[in-house]
Amino acid sequence: MLRRTKILATLGPATDKPGVLEGLFKAGVDVVRMNFSHGSAQDHIDRANKIRELSKITGHRVGILADLQGPKIRIARFKDTKVILHEGQDFALDINLDPTAGDNTQVGITYEPLALEVKPGSRLLLDDGRIVLDVINVENMRVNCTVIVGGDLSNNKGINLLGGGLSAAALTEKDKEDIKTIGIMGCDYVAVSFPRCAEDLHEARRLLEAEGCYAGIVAKVERAEALDVMDEIILASDVVMVARGDLGVEIGDANLPAVQKKLIERTRELNRIAITATQMMESMIENAIPTRAEVFDVANAVYDGTDAIMLSAETASGKYPVKAVEAMDRICLEAEKQPRVRVSDHRVNIQFDRDDEAIAMSAMYMANHTKIKGIVALTESGSTPLWMSRISSGIPIFALSGEETTLGKVTLYRGVFPVYFKINPTHDHAEVNREIVKELRQWNRAADGDKFIITKGDLTGVKGGTNALKVVVVGQGLTP
Ligand code: PGA
Ligand code: MN
Repeated sequence: MLRRTKILATLGPATDKPGVLEGLFKAGVDVVRMNFSHGSAQDHIDRANKIRELSKITGHRVGILADLQGPKIRIARFKDTKVILHEGQDFALDINLDPTAGDNTQVGITYEPLALEVKPGSRLLLDDGRIVLDVINVENMRVNCTVIVGGDLSNNKGINLLGGGLSAAALTEKDKEDIKTIGIMGCDYVAVSFPRCAEDLHEARRLLEAEGCYAGIVAKVERAEALDVMDEIILASDVVMVARGDLGVEIGDANLPAVQKKLIERTRELNRIAITATQMMESMIENAIPTRAEVFDVANAVYDGTDAIMLSAETASGKYPVKAVEAMDRICLEAEKQPRVRVSDHRVNIQFDRDDEAIAMSAMYMANHTKIKGIVALTESGSTPLWMSRISSGIPIFALSGEETTLGKVTLYRGVFPVYFKINPTHDHAEVNREIVKELRQWNRAADGDKFIITKGDLTGVKGGTNALKVVVVGQGLTP
């Protein structure tokens, strides 16, 4: 069975080890994340090239998502990589400290305005809330704190201000530099960290397009303020990430489950893609199997309707990157057998303005209510498979396209599988249908007697041209 929910794995030192990327491909990773918070421009370019090379060799297309750092406040580095903080001790964050000179009394930071935006009594949460500091006072650019919750603290960990409200713009100078690298590197998606409003996403899109990059835009919902303008943010982006790490710190962990459900539901309603991210397999950074709670978290995200689930440190720096993907794969496959994720009343009462959209919906209605092996959407822009995949179903949607950018984008869509297919403009519909079936047979996706739905336009290669729904039975009539 084909897994519908997509697995997004973050690359890092653990995936640079020999054989690990190959292992991730074998385990079925769908998209990789280049985290621009870590690593050099060259690291990212090298990794992207390796992914494209492996996609070619294996015939399994893996999408690339470049994740901008955004105005994340981070501590700098420690002399010995890591320190242990104890409850009640003093600890300072100092912009003027040498960024490699941290010890167990102080550490540098990268976000200049921090000292101006906190006051005595402000609560700072480090490393997704594992370490809690209360601000005592600010001296020059040094923020003096007391440790409320201690523990291990290592290089470059994030800092959040409880309740949110830091003023930083979503795109930093570093992000603007990284956008240039992304223009050279090429990718399918670019994630904007900490957007506050739709304009932050429009700006990212403009800057990327100026570099010749037409990647889909991912809005990472990780600020409390973003929830107040949820629809605007969803509509300004192609993909929404429930960024549970930072969001959980800002709004409080107990509020996360309801927000995750709401965000995924609304994102799907507005024909956008949803990613559920952070700590899904956290214990697998150290262990070869997930906890029961993690198994439930992954399955529940599938029930919530997420398109993709993301691994962060589990794959970037964990001990078992391949096993983490394998675990997600088996949990998704089981969760997807539940009847509740295969039925849909999505948009049944809607009047459609466009014929192509209506055909996409009709195909899904037919697929969900008759015995169909799969749906084939011949697509230029990817809109048809996007609309189709917003309907919950158990039937695979094969997106056939000659457009590399479209194939790259659908790697993230739930239940959609990219297949390179170039239409020969001199061929008629019957010939194209035969070629489609041949292609599916080659991929072992079709056998005699299987019924498929094919949607397509007038074979002219015009975007938005889908105007036909054809039913073919493999091995019968016009199909080989
Ligand atoms: P990050 O974003 O991994 O870049 O911090 C995801 C999150 O905050 O959950
Ligand atoms: Mn984050």
